[in-house]
This record gives sequence, structure tokens and C-alpha cells, in this order.
Amino acid sequence: MLIVQKYGGTSVGDLERIANVAQRIASARDAGNDLVVVVSAMSGETNKLIDYAHHFSSHPSKREMDILLSSGERVTASLLAIALQEMGYPAVAMTGRQAGIRTDDTHMFARIEEINTEAMRQHIAAGKIVIVAGFQGVDAHGNVTTLGRGGSDLSAVAIAGALGADACEIYSDVDGIYTTDPRIEPRARKLDRISYDEMLELASLGAKVLQSRSVELAKKMGVTIVARSSFNDNKGTIITEEGETMEAVLVSGIALDTNQARVSLRDVADRPGVAAEIFNRLAEEQINVDMIIQNASADGTTNLGFTVPQSELDQAQRAIESFDHDIGSADYDNHICKVSVVGVGMQSHSGIAARAFSALADNGINIEMISTSEIKVSMVIDEKYGELAVRVLHEAYELDR
Ligand code: ADP
Ligand code: ASP
Ligand code: MG
Repeated sequence: MLIVQKYGGTSVGDLERIANVAQRIASARDAGNDLVVVVSAMSGETNKLIDYAHHFSSHPSKREMDILLSSGERVTASLLAIALQEMGYPAVAMTGRQAGIRTDDTHMFARIEEINTEAMRQHIAAGKIVIVAGFQGVDAHGNVTTLGRGGSDLSAVAIAGALGADACEIYSDVDGIYTTDPRIEPRARKLDRISYDEMLELASLGAKVLQSRSVELAKKMGVTIVARSSFNDNKGTIITEEGETMEAVLVSGIALDTNQARVSLRDVADRPGVAAEIFNRLAEEQINVDMIIQNASADGTTNLGFTVPQSELDQAQRAIESFDHDIGSADYDNHICKVSVVGVGMQSHSGIAARAFSALADNGINIEMISTSEIKVSMVIDEKYGELAVRVLHEAYELDR
């Protein structure tokens, strides 16, 4: 079998853990498998590098950031290869470029356009264990790019797809996908399987266990992911097409996104074209706007609220402040979070959303914004109630049973 394994930051968090990962790889090898292993930077390393850059600039150039950030993954890839070689296993470390990962030129959030697998295949054919530095590639001009936070998951899925691997195993510090973050709700239950669509929704709504883009790509390429722990041999969770048994489940999980901020615009002129102008301006700045709500108009003006990622709030504020017309006043709130209930079974049932609202109300948690789709209900609440809300909703939908 050809197996792609990905080890996240915690799994390679120190030298001992890298040695542990080397052992696991050696066992998979001894079992007769060909292996391509994708690694993240040691945990905390990427944040540390970002802080370093911010020491010199509040707006470091993204091109240079990519050179900086890609270095974290190179450290672990090379150390892991050295550790394996020392154990007597033929291993070769590759950067994203050497592994043939070509991306577009969107620095810090690049898309993989194609993978030239030739070099990886040659190493595999020569009996080598290939260790690839995750999270990175190179654009058509040879500039190093990175794939967005958590992007090593994407590297792994893309490589598994391009190589037609028999398995794509993503190892972290949890042994699978749970009904919610087990660090927040210890009674969270591990799922045997979850559909791409539900996983995609959970991931994009804040469950950082898998990068949402990686799930999107897995679905597109038909790559089945297994999420497992690098600290034990538990079975893990399979992320795959929706199966018959899955449809019975109404709600599959709760996600919490603490990286959200809210912008409230008051006394916005209520005439055609104003919203378009505001949101076009934000789009030009590549700000990811979510959960837009507009109140019914009174006296020819209206209020408009929306959320943006916290990291984009300053930029959003600058964009809004550049308006000298049509907006009365604006206020910006960093202390909110978004809690979401996700489940494919929701689309055919009524009353699911109402249950969430009641559960929060019963616990004195005020809902500031709501948005729904066929398979999710998201609510913006005060940041300080985020974890409580997760537990309350987990209980309300009896997810521990
Ligand atoms: P890695 O560094 O290996 O990529 P991450 O820290 O990105 O790992 O993701 C693993 C973490 O995701 C877990 O420690 C857990 O706290 C969190 N998490 C959030 N939601 C879930 C969920 N529904 N199931 C499992 N883990 C979750
Ligand atoms: N090291 C990168 C990050 O922290 C990528 C990854 O870990 O997947 O976001
Ligand atoms: Mg991750």
C-alpha cells in the first residue's frame, strides 16, 4: 500500500515527539508500506515566526512572510528524515518545491494548482520514505508560497490525491473527529465516520481539527481521510462520502469559532447600491465577510451588521472609515464568537434551530446574530459564553448519547 501520513504541530512538538513519529513511520514501513509523510512545523513555531515579523512591521510583506513561515516545516521534515536515517531507514526530506507542489501566487493563502509527482515517485521507486515539508509550495515564478493556517492538512490531501494513495491518515493530538472539541466538552463523543459536507461545515465554522480547504479538496478528489492520534493506536474517524447510516443523524456536531469580530454600521442610507458599494469595498480588500444582517429601514436609514475574521478587523475598519458618505456611525466588537450546530439531517427537520435558541436562552445567553443554511445554524454571542454555549448545545441535542 502507498500511505500518505500527516503529522501536525503537536505530534512533532519537540525532539522526543519527532522520535516517536519516526518510530510510527518505521512500523508502517516494516508492515510493508510505501510512505509519503507530510509534516507541520513544531507547535507554536509558526506563531513565533509571525511574532518575529511583527516586531519589525505591522504589515510585513506577504512574499517575505512566506519565505519565513515555510522554514518551520523544513525544520521538522529534515529532522524527521535524519532521525529515520539514523534508525536505518532510507528517508529523504523534500521542501514543497522539491515535491513539485505548484500554487497560484496568493501569498499566505495560496491554492495548489498542480503537483508534479515525478520526483516523489522516483524516491518511492528507489525505496525511500519521502518526508515532505507541509503548508508550502511555489508559484509559477518560483516564489515560495504558503497555504493558509493549518495548510499542512491540505498538502497531505493534495499529495494523496495526486499520487492516488491507498490511504490518507492525518495524525494530531486527538484520536478522531468528535461531536465537539473534546477540550471544551469532555463528554464529546468520537464519530466513526463523518461526511465530507458535515466535516467541511464543522471545519469552516471553527473546528480546527482539519483545515476546511483540505476537506473541500478531499471531497473533490475523492480522497478518504482518516483522522487519528499520533499518541495512541485508537481507530480514528473516517471522513468520506455521505453513507446511508449517516442520514439518520440530525445533528452531528457543535463548532466554536473564537476568531470572529463584528462590525455594526448605523444609520446607513437605505437606497439601492449602498450595500453593494460597502461590500464591494470590503471585497476589494479581500476581507472575508460573513453573517450579514440588515434591519428593516426606518426614516430612510437602516442598520447593517456583519462579521469578519478578527485578524481582518483592522483592515475592515480602515475600509469602512474610508467612506465619507452614507454611513452614520460604526462600531467594532472583538469580543464575540460564533457557535454553530451542524448536521445533514437538519435539512429535512423543522424545530432544530428553535431548540438551539431555547437552550441558549435557558442559560441566559443572548444571541446577537443568527444565520442558517440547510445543514447548520450559526449564532453570534458574547465571547465569554462561547465554551458554555458549546456545552449547553451539546447537551440540548443529546450528542453525548
Ligand atoms: P495539528 O496541530 O495536529 O494540526 P490541531 O491543533 O490543528 O492539530 O487540531 C487538533 C485540535 O482540534 C484538537 O486538539 C482539538 O482541541 C481541536 N478540535 C476542535 N474541534 C474538534 C472536534 N470536533 N473533534 C476533534 N478535535 C477538535
Ligand atoms: N504550521 C502551519 C500553521 O501553524 C501549518 C500547519 O500546521 O498545518 O498554520
Ligand atoms: Mg491543524
